[in-house]
Amino acid sequence: MKKRELKIFVDFDGTITQQDVGDSIFSRFGDPKKVNSVIDDLLNDRISSRKCWDLLCSSTPAIKKKELDDFIDNLVIDSTFHSLVTYCKKMNIELIVLSDGFDYYIKRILNRENLMDLKFYANNLSIDENGKLIPQYPYYNPDFPTSANCKRDHILDNSSDDDYTFYIGDGNSDKESAQYCDYIFAKDGLLKFCEKERISFSPFKDFNDVIKKIDFLFSKRKLRKGHQAELKRRSAYLVE
Ligand SMILES: [Mg+2]
Repeated sequence: MKKRELKIFVDFDGTITQQDVGDSIFSRFGDPKKVNSVIDDLLNDRISSRKCWDLLCSSTPAIKKKELDDFIDNLVIDSTFHSLVTYCKKMNIELIVLSDGFDYYIKRILNRENLMDLKFYANNLSIDENGKLIPQYPYYNPDFPTSANCKRDHILDNSSDDDYTFYIGDGNSDKESAQYCDYIFAKDGLLKFCEKERISFSPFKDFNDVIKKIDFLFSKRKLRKGHQAELKRRSAYLVE
């Protein structure tokens, strides 16, 4: 039997970063009214995540690359994320970032934070010669529209049933995918969703809470496979 590995899948916007970077960019450069109504439609499941990004990109006027970069450079991450990265290296836990936002700002922020060696999956964003934002979705799966970058597929591709998987997230794009992991850390929207759907989770405020909890689970030998996650994974493999 393959040796069990530990993996952590972590959301980016609002989880690693303090603010939702994607939303902030569109609120800053687009029409705030339009942005609010599109995001409201997304959060109330009236439109898919992909549709949301398409609408936000197409409604945003031309942007100067330098202005966008300067704006991104002023957005901060949760400083305790560095502790999680260090902890994972020490404990030999693989850490993978799953974002329904865009590679454009994730690359820039990880680079600034000296975290370029972190593996991440995201949607693709570029600026054309006229300053228009062009989104692309290399990992879109129409069966799972809550995330334009199908986080669920990345979890299945990057872990085996023998591994022990953690999920850390805060929002809409984490709802479906988190359920494929053995242990969920949730805050904000994801926390409310887990409560409502009676999905077991551990609340967290920052990554020190996460580290403390994982250490506790290790010390008590309490890393038990999540039954619901096993069922979800099994049904995924049956379909595919
Ligand atoms: Mg998020």
